[in-house]
Amino acid sequence: MTDVLIVGAGPVGLTMAAELARYGVGVRLIDRAPHATETSKALVVWSRTLELTDRMGCTQAFLKAGLRAPGASIRSAGKVLGNPRFDDIASTYNFALMIPQRDTERLLAEHLLSFGVEVERQVELVDFTEAVDGVEVRLRHADGSEERVRTPWLIGCDGAHSTVRHRLGLAFEGSAQGDDWLLADVRLDGSGAPPPDEIATYLHRDGPFVIFPIPGGRARVVATVGKTDAAHPRPDPTLTDVQALIDQRTGGNFRASDPVWLTHFRINERKVAEYRRGCVFLAGDAAHIHSPAGGQGMNTGMQDAVNLAWKLAMVLHGQAGEILLDSYSPERSAVGDLVLRNAGRLTDMATLTNPAAQAARNLALRVLLGFHAVRDRMATQMSEIEIAYAGSPLSKGREAGSRWDPESYEGMPPGAGGEPRFVLYAADAARGSALTGRFPDLLEPRLRSPPDASGLFIIRPDGYVGLSADEADWDDAERYLRLLTQSDGHTGGHAS
Ligand SMILES: Cc1cc2nc3c(=O)[nH]c(=O)nc-3n(C[C@H](O)[C@H](O)[C@H](O)COP(=O)(O)OP(=O)(O)OC[C@H]3O[C@@H](n4cnc5c(N)ncnc54)[C@H](O)[C@@H]3O)c2cc1C
Repeated sequence: MTDVLIVGAGPVGLTMAAELARYGVGVRLIDRAPHATETSKALVVWSRTLELTDRMGCTQAFLKAGLRAPGASIRSAGKVLGNPRFDDIASTYNFALMIPQRDTERLLAEHLLSFGVEVERQVELVDFTEAVDGVEVRLRHADGSEERVRTPWLIGCDGAHSTVRHRLGLAFEGSAQGDDWLLADVRLDGSGAPPPDEIATYLHRDGPFVIFPIPGGRARVVATVGKTDAAHPRPDPTLTDVQALIDQRTGGNFRASDPVWLTHFRINERKVAEYRRGCVFLAGDAAHIHSPAGGQGMNTGMQDAVNLAWKLAMVLHGQAGEILLDSYSPERSAVGDLVLRNAGRLTDMATLTNPAAQAARNLALRVLLGFHAVRDRMATQMSEIEIAYAGSPLSKGREAGSRWDPESYEGMPPGAGGEPRFVLYAADAARGSALTGRFPDLLEPRLRSPPDASGLFIIRPDGYVGLSADEADWDDAERYLRLLTQSDGHTGGHAS
């Protein structure tokens, strides 16, 4: 039976389907494209995403296929201004994992198949309308035939031009950044090339030039090439164009060859205000797009999917109430705003055109990146390990919303089993067992020892602190669990 129809089998739709299937929810995942992405697109998988794919059960496959980048460099006029290190990130996965998006999608599709779910290709969502307890969806197949299907829940993971978003009439507010960017996947050889496992950014008066390692010996280069002229789109770049940029912006001493992808792209910074309307949700690029600076786009989208899947599974299984679903949009929209802001700032800083401002920037970077704390902040921000849900309706208490980390909390990551359950960490075994006994659908049966004996914690299935209270605050714990079961009485919603 289909409980949830997911539109779009990019990295976000695949993550969503795999998580829901792992929790025993009946899913259909459709995509209008005849085959998966063949290009490298998003290259970086960050620490927090790897922690979450660990719960899913597929991080090892990612680690095997990817290349670990332990750090980055920021360079200008032949000098290294600073070296942010990723190996200081407070995570088991203290590196940037370089892996082309086509491989990320392949690994996620294989993981999904292990639950018996296959992507239905050449199936397009054309339209949907409100129905009793859900929506009626119109699908078009490759042979032109149409299928009408009712679904209680619909999730649009259908990318930047999302049909689901358009049909909901949600504004995608924001703007275009203004520059044309060159992108090339090439081989780089020569004594002046940066180390093959380093993300290197060259700041130049004409604009930035960035090199990202790709497993297998290639590298992605990205550079601004001038202002956008919508009336005269640029032809695809050539290898000669790439070499000219290397010579001009990096000081040369290395050569590009053997290109497999040469293109231009433009940066748009846009977001919806609401990620949910009734029984229809948006996730990934359908909800937010931004500059690739910091490599956050795909990571943020995959984390949207992880955030929604356990909530939907618990509501569908009758374990918890609608409050879980109500928390999805506020939690992930706040993260989307933050990511847009940070990526925008990095892009503005790299693309400054005023020579005096460029000189001040380079000096400031040189000084600031000399401080361990500043280098640490930069790496931590990109790794997304500090994402927190402090303002969420599901967060109660002073540490609520922060991330469960294996250094402080004992046991397996919450949510790693086949059923989503909250986890109780408390010292009083008798009261703890009584509580888990009263909420068997919500709480994992085994009580765990708290990181701090004077505290009581309830951890969400996605590894964030839901409740943080004092050891004696059993009434707070009871109230919190009752709150989670609150429902407005329907398991399906309306699209408008
Ligand atoms: C040139 C380029 C370089 C990039 N570089 C980076 C990078 O370095 N770092 C980074 O984080 N991000 C990067 N990105 C962005 C990254 O690729 C996206 O953030 C990511 O693909 C978003 O995943 P998604 O699953 O939300 O959407 P998508 O990957 O866009 O997937 C959407 C899917 O929905 C399907 N679909 C659309 N409409 C329908 C419909 N009506 N019916 C059925 N199916 C439908 C599409 O066929 C597609 O397969 C780059 C993107 C591009 C284009």
